[in-house]
Amino acid sequence: MKSIRVDPAAGTVRVEGGCTWGDVDHATYPFGLSVPTGFLSTTGVGGLTLGGGLGYLTRRYGLTIDNLLAVDMVLANGRFVTASTEEHKDLFWAVRGGGGNFGVITSFLFQGRPVSTVYGGPMFWEMEDAATVMRAWRDLILNGSHDINGWFGFHTVPPVEMFPAEHHLKKMAVITWCYTGDPTEAEQIFAPIRALAPIAMDFAGPIPLPALQSLFDGLYPPGLQWYWNADFFTELSDEVVDLHIKHAAQLPTVHSTMHLYPINGAAHQVGENDTAWSFREANFAQVIVGVDPDPANNERMIRWSKTYWGALHPYSAGGAYVNMIMDEGQNRIEAAYRSNYPRLAQIKACYDPSNLFRVNQNIKPAMG
Ligand SMILES: Cc1cc2nc3c(=O)[nH]c(=O)nc-3n(C[C@H](O)[C@H](O)[C@H](O)COP(=O)(O)OP(=O)(O)OC[C@H]3O[C@@H](n4cnc5c(N)ncnc54)[C@H](O)[C@@H]3O)c2cc1C
Repeated sequence: MKSIRVDPAAGTVRVEGGCTWGDVDHATYPFGLSVPTGFLSTTGVGGLTLGGGLGYLTRRYGLTIDNLLAVDMVLANGRFVTASTEEHKDLFWAVRGGGGNFGVITSFLFQGRPVSTVYGGPMFWEMEDAATVMRAWRDLILNGSHDINGWFGFHTVPPVEMFPAEHHLKKMAVITWCYTGDPTEAEQIFAPIRALAPIAMDFAGPIPLPALQSLFDGLYPPGLQWYWNADFFTELSDEVVDLHIKHAAQLPTVHSTMHLYPINGAAHQVGENDTAWSFREANFAQVIVGVDPDPANNERMIRWSKTYWGALHPYSAGGAYVNMIMDEGQNRIEAAYRSNYPRLAQIKACYDPSNLFRVNQNIKPAMG
């Protein structure tokens, strides 16, 4: 189920359930359109959208679910329905963040956005400058134009040709930018950022959005060992910044990382009970990720990820992005939805009373 149909007049994009975001970018770019999606092109449209969907356009156009107009779906009883703000409104509310709990989506109808070439790409700084850069990034994300997006990360520089050999295997602070405003102003906007501290490597410049959205695909091919822990944050105090630097200095493998994604701007223009995604006041989604090809390293990277997460968790907003938690128990699922959980459980009881769709971050059908 890989069909995609772009309606250039309406600016909408109909995507079948089997597509990846790379498929969508491939179809929409020739029309000068983009659907707000994630930071890699290999993720599936289905799971990413149903959990919420955060990416380079979140601050400008909201989460992926904020750009969803309707879904066609097969319910647990085999019935085929369309859910939108007009039909099966409760179901449409639930699928915008409630994951694969309510049925199988056969197609998604999205509002495309007029984004084509942006100014973006990664900038790398030495760890000794990480605190300065992270604090400045935090302030920019909290106060800057919604056209400026950029996720903050700690990475080990892979030993590959595109990076100068003197930086290979160094731990560094990275911001990968995406600026969607007036391209003639981009250099001026990034001048103060480039002046924050000496930049070790600077790859930012004009780039087609599909290229930016697939820039890191090669770093995370299928088949790697993954372990991750997540949380939402409303604030990032200087104390939290210092804790990040302490734990990031111990990244256990080349693929392991910590990312902080902005989830404010346009995503805050939707109320916390308007869709199943509850944390509309949170500003950052944090994920600490242990990744490596070799299972022999699992124990080491899991220990690092848990310790790092545990140090930061007391400062968090109390819940996490459902698409970035693991099998962490019912409390963590309910914490992700907060006051929206009881309504989700009611809708689940109505559409899937026997919990057929339960291999997921499961919302249990409400009793009685
Ligand atoms: C390398 C990597 C990068 C990521 N980057 C981002 C990112 O930038 N932004 C972001 O928001 N998230 C990101 N994620 C998290 C991602 O959103 C989740 O892993 C998500 O579950 C992926 O969905 P999928 O369809 O690819 O996976 P799948 O494993 O196919 O699906 C996951 C679950 O979603 C449900 N589901 C999927 N398709 C359907 C459907 N058609 N109908 C009903 N239910 C369905 C099912 O419950 C399924 O078990 C990333 C994950 C990885 C591994």
